[in-house]
Amino acid sequence: MSCKIFIRGVVQGVGFRPAVYRTAKRMGLKGYVRNNGSNVEIGLDRDYEKFLTTLRRELPQLARIDDVAVKKTNEKYDDFIILKSRKGMKHSTLPADTGICDECLKELFDRRNKRYLYPFTNCTNCGARFSLIKDAPYDRRNTSMNDFVLCESCRKEYLSPENRRFHAQTTSCPECGPGYVLYDKNKKIVDGDNPVKEFAGLIDKNIIGVLKGWGGMHICCSLNAVKKLRKWYKREQKPFAVMMRNLDTVKRYIEVSDVEEKLLTSPQKPVVLLRKKNEQEVSGILEDVSPGLPNIGVMLPYSGLHHILFHYMKNDGIVMTSGNIPGEPMMTLNRDVFELGAEYYLLHNRDIVSRCDDSVIRVYGERKFFIRKSRGYVPVKIDVDYDECIVGVGAEQNVSATVSKNGAIYSSQYIGNTSYYPTLTFLEESTGHLMNLLGINSIDGVGIDLHPWYVTKKFGEKISEKYDAKLFRIQHHWAHAVSLMIDNKINEDVVALTLDGTGYGSDGKIWGGEVLLSDYVSFDRSGSLEEIPLIGGDAAVRDPRRIVFGVFEKLGVRNGYFNEKEANILRKSMKNAPLTTSFGRVLDALSCYLGICQKQTYDGEPAMKLEKYLEKGKLKYDFEATVTNRDRKIVSTLDLFRQLVDCSKSKKISDRKKSDLSYSFVYHLLKKLTEIALEKADEKNIRYIGITGGVSYNTTITKIMEGFVKKSDKKFLTHDSIPNGDGGISAGQNAVVGHRLK
Ligand SMILES: [Zn+2]
Ligand SMILES: [Zn+2]
Repeated sequence: MSCKIFIRGVVQGVGFRPAVYRTAKRMGLKGYVRNNGSNVEIGLDRDYEKFLTTLRRELPQLARIDDVAVKKTNEKYDDFIILKSRKGMKHSTLPADTGICDECLKELFDRRNKRYLYPFTNCTNCGARFSLIKDAPYDRRNTSMNDFVLCESCRKEYLSPENRRFHAQTTSCPECGPGYVLYDKNKKIVDGDNPVKEFAGLIDKNIIGVLKGWGGMHICCSLNAVKKLRKWYKREQKPFAVMMRNLDTVKRYIEVSDVEEKLLTSPQKPVVLLRKKNEQEVSGILEDVSPGLPNIGVMLPYSGLHHILFHYMKNDGIVMTSGNIPGEPMMTLNRDVFELGAEYYLLHNRDIVSRCDDSVIRVYGERKFFIRKSRGYVPVKIDVDYDECIVGVGAEQNVSATVSKNGAIYSSQYIGNTSYYPTLTFLEESTGHLMNLLGINSIDGVGIDLHPWYVTKKFGEKISEKYDAKLFRIQHHWAHAVSLMIDNKINEDVVALTLDGTGYGSDGKIWGGEVLLSDYVSFDRSGSLEEIPLIGGDAAVRDPRRIVFGVFEKLGVRNGYFNEKEANILRKSMKNAPLTTSFGRVLDALSCYLGICQKQTYDGEPAMKLEKYLEKGKLKYDFEATVTNRDRKIVSTLDLFRQLVDCSKSKKISDRKKSDLSYSFVYHLLKKLTEIALEKADEKNIRYIGITGGVSYNTTITKIMEGFVKKSDKKFLTHDSIPNGDGGISAGQNAVVGHRLK
């Protein structure tokens, strides 16, 4: 009996159809396989059950079968063939960029192979995908590889079902594919027959270079040139990521757990935040890469080019950071890149369709905290229980957009800070591109932040008007809480600590230290930190001394940060300073008061630098914060600061004491917030308590809270696939709108 099989899952652009073909051929079956866009359709003349069992066993490494439907038919077939993709229908699964596979790597260093040292070597199992797909379905004609016509020998591989490159849409070789050219700073081509080797030699000589990769331009240099890079790139303190030769090299310098090792070497090859070994050992070079932080972002080579670079280079590690003009997205165009003013440029001639930064992940136990979700992880689908087409546009910083269709959400790549115009444009383009790839041409609802001045609000309004879709304004921290719910597939109420730097509250004040009782259609603010003044608003974020000043003024304590004239000006502006319950700002103030970081040169710096102390701290001080009952429960931050000051009267505080003070302070603050959450959960019979928001990237803080929750009968929730920070807001917005429309 013949039949038709419809398979959904990760079945496009991952070598699925060739695998189907090979299995069917080997079993002597007749029929066809075809890409329908939303699924893969297989026609067979008999034995479909045996076929499916075999297929499941021999699935290509990146493929995944989620759902199978079978329909009996009476059709007859002469042979087994691969039919052309159906036009018009779009994908439900889109392939992500995937690091070079072992087989390709072997060919890369095999002198007899035609792809010996060819940087663009890839196959059906690996290579750039999302960054070069222009349209769906995923066929070569819809990618930027369409500019390169396959040579005879590549065509043969492409057409031969037994070959690993059978229907490998992005395949090429030195004969027919893209190539690299080396330029100097005056856009002049550097002579020589091996530009990659030349560039590797220059990096060893400590030049600052720009490297065009899959999803954008990287600025790179040897570890010895980090100081030079900081000066030139005007990044005094901001941490850079490092690419290391191999896992052994990483382990020599850095501590790697099993979970981290698995992530580092996974096909996605993200940047993983790892602990520096011990401080004496790394005090030199690695300390310069991420000054004052306990961690360093490390990745392994993921493209053929990276492996070839290390083949020629003496250095075991190079700094790799997205090349951009401050505030703007990573550069992608050859013609623009010289504006960066680097010394040398190694550029290729393939267009980058979708900009894609490196993903950055921090491991918490077995879970992944996405600091940046991009290359390798977009567009990955997450199942939700509504079918409407919705767009969530995010907040302002670290923005992503999230689009939903047929019971799943798809988040865009990391976009950046949309208060810069080019970044807003990037958000608009990425949203449009994602909608197009998913075949979405009508929208039911749009989710935006409550903040009246975010430019994403305008963008959301624009889409809402264009598609005649209902617009929803969604409170920032509620969106965080909901993103935590969908990340954990929770379909009941939760109480979440939503701790971050800034988010616009329903009362028009700045929230960020909230206990929220949340479901998908409403939330209740059960508790928060006490409000403290942010003198000068954003100025206080850049200069945390202002936050400490505000706190001390309220406590009636003197501090020596400002002279009397400055202090008087601050006192005056304190009267109409915005008030905030932000946990992040409390961490800033703590970091500043303890003399750890008194000036912010990059986003989150004071709180991040506090981490090193926090992790080593012990519970030595018995601080106590009072809780007052008003419309919500309010934990007194000022109380803790008063006790902190009492315990640290001496001029110079030792590092040990800084650790214990900060740990004790944060411990007691979290204790009160968690108590409020537990009380609420008991009162409402809620089983889940979680933590979300940018502060939860701090694993010491998350661990302290987990300790409190573990003592109760509640289950503890953290993130795993949606970013804890504002990169996850759009997913939460999407889910709120989805349920409100349902
Ligand atoms: Zn491969
Ligand atoms: Zn070729």
